Amino acid sequence: AKATGKNTYSVYQEEMGRHLSARIQMEKHLRNAIQQNELYLMYQPKIDLGNGKVVGVEALLRWRNPKLGLVPPNVFIKIAEDSRMIIPISEWVIQQTILQLQAWQKTEYSHLSIAVNISSNQFSHENFINDLAQKLDVAGLPRRLLEIELTESTVMTNADENIKRLQLLRHKGFDLAVDDFGTGYSSLSYLKRFPLTILKIDKSFVDGLPKDDEDISISQAIIQLAHSLEIKVVAEGIETIQQLEFLQQQKCEYGQGYFISRPLEINNLHPWLETHGNN
Ligand code: C2E
Ligand code: CA
Ligand code: CA
Ligand code: CA
Repeated sequence: AKATGKNTYSVYQEEMGRHLSARIQMEKHLRNAIQQNELYLMYQPKIDLGNGKVVGVEALLRWRNPKLGLVPPNVFIKIAEDSRMIIPISEWVIQQTILQLQAWQKTEYSHLSIAVNISSNQFSHENFINDLAQKLDVAGLPRRLLEIELTESTVMTNADENIKRLQLLRHKGFDLAVDDFGTGYSSLSYLKRFPLTILKIDKSFVDGLPKDDEDISISQAIIQLAHSLEIKVVAEGIETIQQLEFLQQQKCEYGQGYFISRPLEINNLHPWLETHGNN
């Protein structure tokens, strides 16, 4: 029994070691990712469910490393957050987003907004909001074209402190979306005090539409609550026409999902907009 115990322990340690070194390897590669041009953005269209028109896109970060291949964002963003690399990486995302918005200003796409996902350690960074406002000013862009997406858990952690930051963001003219809504521990009384403009219904509640009774109740409740607070609603993860039609009936304003379009590289987004965007 003792020998087994010892073996188990060493196997466990070996396993731990492997995980750790894989993580350290990944972290090491990630440190060079910006410099090596390994990061890029995909853009997922967001449509107005009332008239089918594209209103903007969400920027979704991708990392392709020659050794590691395409690493899923859920994996590398966690590592970036834990190692504070998220700060330069996020700066890169914002810089790219601003360049894209600028490129659109001279085109028929000048009205399209870009939503960016902001991590909590980035959001709590002291100068984040003022820096962002300044960057858009320098670029000559209206601030409403850059939409900030914060997850429900980012917003609700240190809610009292965050209210001030969120007010500053709104005061500066940015639109503010709460992502993954319904998955966390939102208190309704807080929701009323947050100066939000958009709630994103999490994909997990869209999945069961239009059949699952619980998903129907939850999505209806979120939409009604949002509307009573004059907040608009985006449904994410729409994969079927039935889901889309149900959400239209519920007067959900906007939708995103594979049924409308998968996230696209910029070279594919423009042709997609040509055929779907302007009808
Ligand atoms: P999220 O913000 O909730 O983004 C939505 C995710 O759902 C994206 O995954 C998107 O590709 C996927 N998706 C969209 N429509 C559908 C659909 O109809 N069906 C299915 N099955 N999936 C759909 P992705 O791109 O892998 O991103 C995962 C998460 O990584 C994002 O979740 C976001 O939290 C984070 N992330 C992505 N880019 C950034 C970034 O630039 N900064 C930060 N901080 N986080 C990011
Ligand atoms: Ca998002
Ligand atoms: Ca989401
Ligand atoms: Ca989600």
